[in-house]
Amino acid sequence: MATSLDKIVGLARKNSLWPLPFATSCCGIEFMATMGANYDLARFGSERMGFTPRQCDVLLVAGTIAKKMAPILRQVYLQMAEPRWVIAIGACASSGGIFDSYSVLQGIDQVIPVDVYVAGCPPRPEGILEGILKVQELVHNESLRRRNSPQYKALLESYGIQ
Ligand code: SF4
Repeated sequence: MATSLDKIVGLARKNSLWPLPFATSCCGIEFMATMGANYDLARFGSERMGFTPRQCDVLLVAGTIAKKMAPILRQVYLQMAEPRWVIAIGACASSGGIFDSYSVLQGIDQVIPVDVYVAGCPPRPEGILEGILKVQELVHNESLRRRNSPQYKALLESYGIQ
């Protein structure tokens, strides 16, 4: 019974993800294309963009994140309610990309946990769609109890999040 409930909730969540775009540079433009008629993210139930963290459950980080911006990104993540997921779109969000410099964060996973990384500089909209599909897969298969598990708590604690 618990497993069936997990599956039903997973199915509902998976097909109604509300993304919060945190786009800072070129990768953000690719994300705009992903929302357009050709690629049409709405086909996957994620057309409802939110620009308030409290109403979104997938944080899409697209672009270069300066170290000065890292606390803001972290604050946005903290304001999202559980369950929440994070996609790092492109080389900059995933690893700092070509900007191996004193001012650029060398990957957003230094400040928040990341569920899916999308490769590319920039990734094509197909790559971004694949990232969304990967998150959907995670959401669908996630146990309702995962967020209360010791492993998840340990993961958050490793980022200094209670
Ligand atoms: S990964 Fe490439 S395209 Fe994306 S923000 Fe960085 S430099 Fe721009």
